[in-house]
Amino acid sequence: MKTALAIEVTKTSQSKLAQTDFDNLMFGQTISDHMFVADYENGEWTNLRIVPYEPLSLNPANATLHYGQSVFEGMKAYKNDAGEILLFRADANQKRLNASAERMCIPEVPEEIFMEGLYKLLEMDADWIPQKPGYSLYVRPFIFATDDYLGIRPSQKYSFMIFTCPVGHYYAKPVTVKVEQTYTRAAEGGTGYAKAAGNYAASLYPALLAQKQGYDQLLWTDGKTHQNIEESGTMNVMFVVNDTIITAPTHTGTILKGITRESVLILAKEMGYVVEERFMTVSELEKLLQAGKLTEAFGTGTAATIAHIAKININGVDYELPAKGEDAFSNQVLRKLDAIKYGKVTDTHGWIRKV
Ligand code: PMP
Repeated sequence: MKTALAIEVTKTSQSKLAQTDFDNLMFGQTISDHMFVADYENGEWTNLRIVPYEPLSLNPANATLHYGQSVFEGMKAYKNDAGEILLFRADANQKRLNASAERMCIPEVPEEIFMEGLYKLLEMDADWIPQKPGYSLYVRPFIFATDDYLGIRPSQKYSFMIFTCPVGHYYAKPVTVKVEQTYTRAAEGGTGYAKAAGNYAASLYPALLAQKQGYDQLLWTDGKTHQNIEESGTMNVMFVVNDTIITAPTHTGTILKGITRESVLILAKEMGYVVEERFMTVSELEKLLQAGKLTEAFGTGTAATIAHIAKININGVDYELPAKGEDAFSNQVLRKLDAIKYGKVTDTHGWIRKV
């Protein structure tokens, strides 16, 4: 992509590439050499630059530290066999970042600033993108308030940044989940559909309680009745009953509109499955599990793509799900998605952009 915007580039003089062990990557711990930065001041995004990844200097009165006016995104870049950089559905992430921003009174980042900053950063840190099956470069764009002011009001200044991390497999094994019917992740009229920092802070405590009981993640239920299953941890959740895929609808505004979710549903329809965007209730799930009729359950998200669920706890009772074979829907759709992401098949959906 040709860059039309003026982006000032400062290259690092001390690349961390040689010291990085690409065979032992912990998710989010290894960060590439550079980051893209833009500042919002006087009503416009300015000072577009790529600089070495480095700590920030913040005033203790920084508004984000106190009131959490901050939104983020997560997406991935891949390398195909020819070593070309492929981005999966970055346009959808760009739009979702702005939808989140609007809800948090944060100014939108224009598409060209997001895309050109991202492309230039990926070109510069291309050597950080692993060229191995199952590996990729996780991309973290985010916007946060930078006013140094303790009054509660939308900040007048912001920073937009993108940095990247080479990553391997997220969950090495299937996950165990607990249906949460006491705590709430998101309520109607709230911020559940936004990828806002505070949503994640609020989910930590209930998730920690579940982890202490031996579960990896929660299955969140709606805040009003605690009967409708919404999503799981940082994934959307899908249930398979014979040839039907059931996943929560997104019209309530309490669920993040996952890009993996949407992609899986499109592929599922093409594969001849029936897609039902409706709430699975806790009692329906319980009955299906008791009768051994739940064919599959899995989470969908950028980090893991597909995370198989091996155990579901409902009201203190554990239900085990048998391991899934190669021909299970979740494994078939995972192979299809991987083939698209790594450029092994023709991209008939227009999901891939070559950088
Ligand atoms: N739900 C939540 C709460 C999430 O944080 C994520 C991760 N972005 C998802 C679902 C999955 O979304 P995506 O497929 O776009 O990564």
